[in-house]
Amino acid sequence: TENKVADALSRHPVAGNDPSFPEVLRDVCNYHNYSKEELAAWQQGDSTIREPLLQLQGLRPDDGQSNETLDKFVLKNGVLYRKGDAHQRKFRLVVPSLLRRGILSNCHDTPDSGHFGIAKTTEKVSRNYWWPGLSLSVKSYVAACSFCQKNKSKTSTPVGKLHPIPPPTRMFSLIGIDHLGPFRLTTSGNRYLLVPIDYLSKWVIAKPVASTAAALIRTFLETEVIAQHGYPHRIITDRGTGFTAKLLQNQLQQWGINNSFITTEHHQSNGQITHATLAINTAKQESTKASPFEIVYGRQPEFPSERQFPWPPEDKESLQHFLHRVTRLRKKIQWRLVVQQRQVKERHDKKRKKSPQFSVGDTVLVARTLRFPQLTQKLLPKFIGPFQIAEKRSSLIYLVETLPAARKKMWHRFPAHVNQLKLFKTPNEVDWPSLGPTEA
Ligand SMILES: [Zn+2]
Repeated sequence: TENKVADALSRHPVAGNDPSFPEVLRDVCNYHNYSKEELAAWQQGDSTIREPLLQLQGLRPDDGQSNETLDKFVLKNGVLYRKGDAHQRKFRLVVPSLLRRGILSNCHDTPDSGHFGIAKTTEKVSRNYWWPGLSLSVKSYVAACSFCQKNKSKTSTPVGKLHPIPPPTRMFSLIGIDHLGPFRLTTSGNRYLLVPIDYLSKWVIAKPVASTAAALIRTFLETEVIAQHGYPHRIITDRGTGFTAKLLQNQLQQWGINNSFITTEHHQSNGQITHATLAINTAKQESTKASPFEIVYGRQPEFPSERQFPWPPEDKESLQHFLHRVTRLRKKIQWRLVVQQRQVKERHDKKRKKSPQFSVGDTVLVARTLRFPQLTQKLLPKFIGPFQIAEKRSSLIYLVETLPAARKKMWHRFPAHVNQLKLFKTPNEVDWPSLGPTEA
């Protein structure tokens, strides 16, 4: 599909990129299980991270900083780890420069990462890993990801912005249910996705269905929601015919479930929902400051890519401690949702930002104008390009044209409104901190 192509293009070339070499074999050859000897040697040879390693080995005379190092870092089997906070792995691997790009790619552009933004990617990386300047690395990696640049909207509006609903006290008691689509027909005959989201944990389920019919919603509620999570008190839906149908309403009444209707503009759930609910359920949500997975299971998920590194064993948590911790976490999340709703309201009242300005020669992406937004929005890249700015006609209108190297017999030159434009960034090796300043 189109997405796959764009995704492949956004990856950086790997060593041994011989097109005649079978892909499967190449993947096997590129897969490493890193040994502790190898990691330790790379850490010590890497000037950006060797200092704490040497200090912990007692190879540096006391200079007053040692205590700080001892607080933050720890040596396990000769490998350097940095201590994590409550949401992170207890001992996070201190990553040598040469492995950083691979980790960033694992945490950003794989299907279970879903091309999330800077904040979520940073959180995902720092859950298991640390290096000086980590947030800078993530920032430049994500900013230069061409898939993201072409597919993300300029501003993302938080879901639920206009309809603040008081957060529930229990998980899976208040559930929003939405249809996404229609999409291109799949081989199994499905055109829509039924997507319920739990209002407390933000846990998302996505189920492909053939139509928006009431019977399908009923079966779905029975098998995927009630059978797994119990009876919700209330569901929140739009006024789609499937939801308002007598068949469903009668069934809901029997189940004792209330149905609130809201009029939504279809939230731009940025199409990612179709790729991986796992990515959504395991990413930190801005509103709760935790991942749905963490709220539901009380622990962080583990991804296959983490299994290539050795991790020191952690103390087993007692059941009592676990329950106490999870209960406290869920209480805290309820409170955060209340605070966050207030902040969203405040932000809503603030003025819009000023339009950006571009110069002749700047490379830009241009937002696609959609003639049939309902049907095509989720399947096409939101931006096309890159183009270059040929002329500034006014503070709002720019003339853009195909880059000289991309010109064929027919090429484009057209006026675009400043709101349609955003700068196209290219990966810049200078952004990769090799000797950069340390950062907490
Ligand atoms: Zn991306």
